[in-house]
Amino acid sequence: MTATTSHDQCVLKWCNEAGDHAPHRQYVASLVAWHQTWLIGINVVQADGEPVHVELTATARWSPPATVTLKPDEAEAVGQALLEAAARAVR
Ligand SMILES: [Zn+2]
Repeated sequence: MTATTSHDQCVLKWCNEAGDHAPHRQYVASLVAWHQTWLIGINVVQADGEPVHVELTATARWSPPATVTLKPDEAEAVGQALLEAAARAVR
């Protein structure tokens, strides 16, 4: 794939990747959770010819990373559910 300029940065302003890469990816958040055992990542991703989507990754030391691909409205629904669950958990 040749989505790079002479400065080795992606032609897409929002993309955080450099050099030859596919798909395009913006790293939105990366956080450690649950007793330092999980690494949660949230990215915006676009593969060639595909619509932009949200990628949720969960990685633990003892297992390979799990990746969940979400449409934007699905990501919003997951986010709302997380907020609701968190609010119930602190009651
Ligand atoms: Zn890119």
